[in-house]
Amino acid sequence: TSFAHFGFDEQLMNQIRKSEYTQPTPIQCQGVPIALSGRDMIGIAKTGSGKTAAFIWPMLVHIMDQKELEQGEGPIAVIVCPTRELCQQIHAECKRFGKVYGLRSVAVYGGGSMWEQAKALQEGAEIVVCTPGRLIDHVKKKATSLQRVTYLVFDEADRMFDMGFALLFSATFRKKIEKLARDILTDPIRVVQ
Ligand code: AMP
Repeated sequence: TSFAHFGFDEQLMNQIRKSEYTQPTPIQCQGVPIALSGRDMIGIAKTGSGKTAAFIWPMLVHIMDQKELEQGEGPIAVIVCPTRELCQQIHAECKRFGKVYGLRSVAVYGGGSMWEQAKALQEGAEIVVCTPGRLIDHVKKKATSLQRVTYLVFDEADRMFDMGFALLFSATFRKKIEKLARDILTDPIRVVQ
């Protein structure tokens, strides 16, 4: 597979070229077409595999489709991740690629200023990258609304699960994650790299 197979427009292709990526990684080859098709997906790939871009590029395509259909408030895409560092990294990637369409990303995570994050949310953003607890805090305070969200990513879902349910026996982790995924997702396609 080459990047041309994804059918991205010139704006996004130019930005990918600027990044000096010569070809898609395996998780991108498999995952991007599935995400573009609108199917739910469970992706299993290591850090360094290019998994972030594999969910960001289809997300941008989705947002641009959705924006024309639907006016309104609040993000269209939400990416939930376990740590502040990961939040900042993903947010940087969202900005780097999202800027070609003038899309805005906001990062909200525990430990950052609640007030500054709320202000950024209220200024409006199509993309929110967050840690779970802090997102809930902002929704409770009505700094943002999730009514427009149609693209949802849990990055490093297993790690988030470990942190939240640290008292469970380790042998049951995998089963619990599988059940959680089955409950939330509709007929997901598994991609294992
Ligand atoms: P990740 O697995 O998302 O943490 O990505 C690891 C690194 O791979 C990041 O620094 C990306 O900029 C880079 N990357 C993503 N896609 C590609 C690609 N197709 N070719 C080369 N590098 C890439």
